[in-house]
Amino acid sequence: MQTVYPILQRLTIVLTLSLIAVSFLFFSSPKACSEPITVSLSPTIDSRFNMARSTIVTNLQDAIQLWNDVLPETELLRFVETDGDVAISFVYDERQRTTIQNERLKRQIAEQKNQLTTLKTSLSTTQETYEARSQEIQTKTSVYLKHVDEYKEKVDAWNEKGGAPAPIYEELKREQLALEVERLNLNNDIANLNKLADTIKNTSGKHNTIVEEVNQKVETINETALREFEEGIYDPNTKTIVIYEFESPLSLKRVLAHELGHALSVGHVEGKDSIMYPYNDSKTFELSESDTKAIKTICEK
Ligand SMILES: [Zn+2]
Repeated sequence: MQTVYPILQRLTIVLTLSLIAVSFLFFSSPKACSEPITVSLSPTIDSRFNMARSTIVTNLQDAIQLWNDVLPETELLRFVETDGDVAISFVYDERQRTTIQNERLKRQIAEQKNQLTTLKTSLSTTQETYEARSQEIQTKTSVYLKHVDEYKEKVDAWNEKGGAPAPIYEELKREQLALEVERLNLNNDIANLNKLADTIKNTSGKHNTIVEEVNQKVETINETALREFEEGIYDPNTKTIVIYEFESPLSLKRVLAHELGHALSVGHVEGKDSIMYPYNDSKTFELSESDTKAIKTICEK
């Protein structure tokens, strides 16, 4: 019996303490909309984010302003230099590395698409030339074969007569020489045509390689791109926002506005342009009707 008392006592003490803690938390949480939630930014930002702290502050102030513009005369959020109710920090990790890598891939893809356009143009020009030359050669070949036949007929005719007189023999010799020149010219044309065919083959091979490379890069981007607002996290227990990645000042502003929305107790809403939509794909920076409706509902409570 002697040991029971201390334990019970301790239990009571623990219970009382936790009750106090809970009520303290309850009363200290800022009442939504009646007074601004202050927001501060960590004093140092990892240089690998490639953005000056002052620039981040400007973007943060834009994100704050977005929410403050909803209700006239009601300041929902306020930027403070230190010790805000909500503290924002930036953590550089795999996510931002992936984003930077994908940005590089996107630039390469754009460059390669230009290359493909150039290759396609030169390919179709070369193909047109090829078609035209091949047509020419076919015509020239049939003309040549006709000349050969005519020459043979003449030679056969004279042979049947037992031979040609000297002047005709000379003329036939000249004709034979002319035919030889015609044949050499044709062979030369055919060699050039084959060179063109090689060029076409090489160019289209190059084209296909680039297409394959582009497809691979697009696949990499699709596999690794972060679509969800996992670029940032708001933790309601510690009242902290951590930003992990952004690909442009616009996406940074959007992710800041999104996490600040959560800090204002706004949940996710519909509409892909909404700041509180679960995915950060939009290129706009304004609150949608669903966003404003959500915050107004919270403020009216
Ligand atoms: Zn969210």
